[in-house]
Amino acid sequence: MKLSLVVPCYNEEENVFPFFDAVMKVFDKKAFDYEIIFINDGSKDNTLTKLKEIYNNFSDKAAVINFSRNFGKEAAVLAGLKRASGDYTAIIDADLQQKPEIVVTMVNFLEEHEEYDVVAAYQEKRIEGKVMSGAKKMFYALINKVCDIEFYSGASDFRTLRRRVVEALISMPEYFRFSKGLFSWVGFETYYLPYMAEERNAGESKWSVKKLIRYAIEGFISFTTFPLKIATYLGALISLLSIMYMFVVIVQKLFFSINIPGYPTIIVLILFLGGVQLLILGIIGEYLARIYIQGKNRPIYIEKEFFGIRNNLAGER
Ligand code: UDP
Ligand code: MG
Repeated sequence: MKLSLVVPCYNEEENVFPFFDAVMKVFDKKAFDYEIIFINDGSKDNTLTKLKEIYNNFSDKAAVINFSRNFGKEAAVLAGLKRASGDYTAIIDADLQQKPEIVVTMVNFLEEHEEYDVVAAYQEKRIEGKVMSGAKKMFYALINKVCDIEFYSGASDFRTLRRRVVEALISMPEYFRFSKGLFSWVGFETYYLPYMAEERNAGESKWSVKKLIRYAIEGFISFTTFPLKIATYLGALISLLSIMYMFVVIVQKLFFSINIPGYPTIIVLILFLGGVQLLILGIIGEYLARIYIQGKNRPIYIEKEFFGIRNNLAGER
């Protein structure tokens, strides 16, 4: 049995050595074979130098993919999955927030439970503000309402996959890789394992509120076309209301001789409808932009270099 670890790294110079040590400590005692695939996702610090050092000393265990620039964690994970050759593949961060010991639990679980194909770690408790946790709750409630697939709140991409799940994930050619959605979309029996995330070993998280909002929008646009239907519903509603209002005005004028004040009503209606139309156009634009980019069929990432002797790689198929 063999395990592959896929480790995306972006500006993790202080973390890669401690991470590698921690992994060795845990897995060297185990009876199974393992490999670690690091992806340097266009780091601007010395991450690559450190990764190469690891590779030079432990080329039987470590491999390094070096991207030509920063393509994002999702792209890095895909590159790693393509290169992974294990019976099981674990996706784990380089910052030691996710303990390698948990991967052992995950692998053992999969070994003992034939019926499961994925073990996903999820955070039972999170240390975060009320606003943030409220926003996340709303996001999951909404996205689960409008999407056919289920999104599991709190489940991360820290997970261990059986070979066939890896194959399924790398068969998806989409450019916009909202990982939570892809994991749900491919299906397979998933076991959710509660865990506590540790503090980051060094450096800082790459997530900001702005990035999170973009990511949430990405989730919606990638996995539902519901926003496109808003125009239809809203259009129908407004038409209905305007017909009703028309009758009200006619009755007022004919039977009660009430003068209808024109100017403010018109201004309000023009602004309101203009706003709605622009909003809907924007939503259509978001989808269109994605069709445009996907239509160019550009690769999702570019590997500048690959350091690894094991060339029995899924990516070369
Ligand atoms: N990461 C990456 N490319 C990016 C951003 C992040 O490969 O553009 C990696 C990062 O090095 C880390 C993992 O993705 O190993 C998770 O990132 P981070 O710790 O910033 O996220 P958080 O744990 O705060 O969710
Ligand atoms: Mg982290």
